[in-house]
Amino acid sequence: MLPRPAPDPYVTLEVADPLETLRIRLTLWLLPLGAGAALTAWGLSVTSNKLSLPDQYLLLPMAVGFIALEFHLWRNPQNVRWVWQIALALIAIYEIVSLFYEAAYKLHQRDGITPAALWFPMVYLMAFNLLNRRQALRFSLVYLVLGLLAGAVGMLMSPSINVSSINTALQFTFSNIAYLALLYMFAYLRRHYAQMHQMAHTDALTNLTNRRAMQQKLEGELDRARRYNRPFALLLADLDHFKQINDTYGHSVGDQVLREVAGRLAQHLRESDSLARWGGEEFLILAPETDLQQAYLLAQRLLGAIRESPISGVQVTLSLGVACYRQGDSIAALLSRADEAMYRAKAGGRNQIVLEEELEDIVIPSHSTTPEL
Ligand code: GH3
Ligand code: MG
Ligand code: MG
Repeated sequence: MLPRPAPDPYVTLEVADPLETLRIRLTLWLLPLGAGAALTAWGLSVTSNKLSLPDQYLLLPMAVGFIALEFHLWRNPQNVRWVWQIALALIAIYEIVSLFYEAAYKLHQRDGITPAALWFPMVYLMAFNLLNRRQALRFSLVYLVLGLLAGAVGMLMSPSINVSSINTALQFTFSNIAYLALLYMFAYLRRHYAQMHQMAHTDALTNLTNRRAMQQKLEGELDRARRYNRPFALLLADLDHFKQINDTYGHSVGDQVLREVAGRLAQHLRESDSLARWGGEEFLILAPETDLQQAYLLAQRLLGAIRESPISGVQVTLSLGVACYRQGDSIAALLSRADEAMYRAKAGGRNQIVLEEELEDIVIPSHSTTPEL
């Protein structure tokens, strides 16, 4: 077995989840906002001496905790989920203590829900958007159970329980169960969407970007090239005599060769390049910011990477056609030039690169194949 190919060009579930890229930025904004809100409430609580005991004693440590987490996240963005677990635990402790306090000392005086209870479901909302689905469900269930227990104990300690406070407690319980169930359902749908998105954009055999997703990338790159007048190159690579490989070694070896060719190609690309399975044994590489000369050097690297050693015990070679964006080009025109160059590589004997047009002063490393000029 060859080593697994580098993951960069592959579509992963994380990439497919639209929230993933927002998560760190959102957190870097929300933490100071939360710290500011907690500090303001604490200041008011201390100066007015009117707010509840939990506000007086818990808000300040919570604000300090948020600021420490912000600092940590800023230095270690990879820890975003861990940061959220601690931030949510801080909020949860505050909410549970507040709920107990409100149930024990305030509920009987009120004719309805308490302010602390209004914010209680906010924690599920954040957990389901910022943690993964299982973590969020576990966290939210523990939080809900502890909150309900704290509320129940508080009510038992309350000087008097009336019908209105019992109604409030019941409405609180049922509404929270409903919020949690709904959020779980949405999280499930989001995961399902991410899986569908991934399947629609990925080739099942090689795990590379598929033709449909590559079409979208090509359109995007064409827009960018037109607007900023920047170059980009397309390299169309077709395995030579692949039918013979299937006929000689069997279809499953053929499949394995395709997977490993995909891996080798991926290993020789830049992060900004895109690699797709364009057809049966055809791969398309989109190389942004690349002119014909640079694309030729890239094509040489790819050609060398495939033929340097056998793949699954089979000696494999490629024919490559290369075309570059020209002013006023369409994707179809560009692809057809790359295709035409690839067919000329086939006609010229395979295992070689053909550029769409002659290059003057090309710098050819001594070990390379001479392009058909
Ligand atoms: P050439 O050098 O002219 O490109 O010859 P070739 O044999 O590679 O090209 P041809 O178009 O004649 O055959 C392509 C073969 O690729 C035929 C098809 O069965 C095989 N193929 C396409 N998709 C797959 C696949 O997913 N798995 C396997 N094992 N083979 C595939
Ligand atoms: Mg072929
Ligand atoms: Mg082909």
